[in-house]
Amino acid sequence: MSHSSSIIRRVSKQIMVGNVPVGGDAPITVQSMTNTLTTDVEATVTQIKRLEAVGADIVRVSVPTMNAAEAFAAIKKQISIPLIADIHFDYRIALKVAEFGADCLRINPGNIGNESRIRDVVDCAKNLNIPIRIGVNGGSLEADIQEKYGEPTAQALVESALRHIDILDRLNFQQFKVSVKASDVSLAVESYQLLAKQIVQPLHLGITEAGGLRSGSVKSAVGLGLLLAQGIGDTLRVSLAADPVEEIKVGFDILKSLRLRSRGINFIACPTCSRQEFDVIGTVNALEERLEDILMPLDVSIIGCVVNGPGEALISDIGITGGKNKSGYYEDGKRQRTRFDNENVIDQLESKIRARVSRSNEANFIIKV
Ligand code: SF4
Repeated sequence: MSHSSSIIRRVSKQIMVGNVPVGGDAPITVQSMTNTLTTDVEATVTQIKRLEAVGADIVRVSVPTMNAAEAFAAIKKQISIPLIADIHFDYRIALKVAEFGADCLRINPGNIGNESRIRDVVDCAKNLNIPIRIGVNGGSLEADIQEKYGEPTAQALVESALRHIDILDRLNFQQFKVSVKASDVSLAVESYQLLAKQIVQPLHLGITEAGGLRSGSVKSAVGLGLLLAQGIGDTLRVSLAADPVEEIKVGFDILKSLRLRSRGINFIACPTCSRQEFDVIGTVNALEERLEDILMPLDVSIIGCVVNGPGEALISDIGITGGKNKSGYYEDGKRQRTRFDNENVIDQLESKIRARVSRSNEANFIIKV
């Protein structure tokens, strides 16, 4: 059912990362970073395509050497999704990947070196219409800022970001986005809140080095959720010590839970108890995996008994409520005559969901024709 978000987003200036808008009224984009060796072109392209298949809007690769820059060019030729080059310090690499078609440079101007090198990179970005992401990280603040604040604080992270921003301002370059990431959730949240009041450029959200799949997802959901709920954030990356594909899935789940973006099925499922009439957990897990290919937004409630089943089904596109031997089936909040055999809920529900999706696709096709 089309529940919409009541969140009012911070007004930000829109930039383009390749053909993907970031900021303004553009949808909040979800991105990830490859963890293959960039010089292994085949492995990196394969991973980028896997990320694209689960919905990534933008992908970033690290480019630590000139060899990696050459590989970047080869990768770029084999993919269509916008590709960000992550560069630290070496301005020659930035110039090289810009020439090879980078869609964005993640580089901090203050780390490039002397004024003429900074000017070279910024002029190049300006001429080729490539945006820059300033990425401040609580773990790598400048020594003098560390010394001034004693420890990473929100003020310290924002001061570092503003220092890089000032350089771009002086060079009259406005096509940038900024991140102020920290592994501590409260620190990251406070930093983004502080920065959001001071600039108009888009903000790239992230809780850096958040942890493994479970703990990192929770930290990211809390931190990013707090910010997104306040309207802060134009693009995000969930950083997990896990397969990057999971970062995209979790990113979309965060946006879906705030109704900021919809993609694929939003499962509503009860935690189960002794009243459940069919295997709710097994059904949800199986369907999450089986229906990954569905992109159409759909609310599906899978509830073990009549205590909460009819109520959830009422506000879902498709719902099932556990009953003795057979479970009740709902579409658009209305109880249907069909009842599902409790022994075979997964197959029956899958076929109903797929039928619903194909009906909808056909209807869209007819409208378009
Ligand atoms: S909906 Fe029913 S089965 Fe599910 S947790 Fe509640 S009481 Fe238990």
